[in-house]
Order: sequence, then structure tokens, then C-alpha cells
Amino acid sequence: MSDESSAFMEDLSPEHFMGEALKEARRAYEVEEVPVGAVILDAATGRLVARAHNQRELLRDPTAHAEILAITQAADYYKSWRLTGCVLYVTLEPCLMCAGAIVQARIPEVVYGAVDPKAGAHCSVFEVLANSANNHFPRVQGGILADESAELLRSFFRERRGGEGKKGDPGSSNGACG
Ligand SMILES: [Zn+2]
Repeated sequence: MSDESSAFMEDLSPEHFMGEALKEARRAYEVEEVPVGAVILDAATGRLVARAHNQRELLRDPTAHAEILAITQAADYYKSWRLTGCVLYVTLEPCLMCAGAIVQARIPEVVYGAVDPKAGAHCSVFEVLANSANNHFPRVQGGILADESAELLRSFFRERRGGEGKKGDPGSSNGACG
């Protein structure tokens, strides 16, 4: 953003909300969960209606990805399964399951950080979020604070393996595809 006077607008930047998602990812890291975080923004009010991080280990639930937990929170907030006024921010490219849930929830806009070359379902492995054959498909922007997201994942896997991360790990490459 070039206009320095737009401090208010800066607060509504994708980087600002991705920063909030990154805070969630760091919480996951602290409790030894794969560090992925998500927040959901009510686009009309600029208010965050959900924030969550991956809790697969804690909940012993394969569906407890950050996006799924955040979507459930937001649906509870709106008392509706339709999240048509929302933007989902997530630190890692959504997987197949989460991309499916995003489509089901009718979320119109998704912003993510790092790409996931092994499991990403925007463009890396599957193209669910970019598939115009879906009745609903969201506007997607990747690569926001991708370095921070990727570095958190890299250092998580490095620590767990006591060595270097493997090629193809989430976070092993940055930026957006396609
Ligand atoms: Zn997922």
C-alpha cells in the first residue's frame, strides 16, 4: 500500500488478518500441534468471528484442522451454515477436506499463506478451490505472509525430526501457485 495516510485501511489489509492467523499457528506450535492457524472475518464489520488452530492431537480428531474448527465457530456465531459474508484467512493452503468445507460453507473469499506441495487443494495437488465446476467457488489469494507461515512449519518439522525438513513438507516452498 503506497498511501501512508491510510492507516485505517492498513488495519484491514490481508497481512493484518494473516498476522492474526499466524498468532493461532504459534499457539499450535507451543502445544506441539502442526502449526497452522485460521481466522474468519466478517467482511461487513471488520470483526473476527472465529479464530482457531490445528488441534488434531489434542482432540484426537483427524478433522480438527484450523479451518474446520474456525468454520464451526463462525457457523455457531451466525447460527447459520452459510458463511456468505466472510473471509477465511489460513496460514497454509487448505487441504482437500478443508477446501470441501469452504465450498460447503459458501465462503466467498479465502486468503492463505504458504503453499502445501503435498496436500494443497487450491492448486498444489488438487484444484478444488479453483474449480469452476463447483456451484460455488471462492476468490482465492495465496502467498500472504508465506515466509512466516512456512518458516514456522519448517522449524516445527525440523525440531520433531531432529534434522532438516523434507522436500515437499508443508512450508518447504513459498508463494502462491497459478
Ligand atoms: Zn485441512
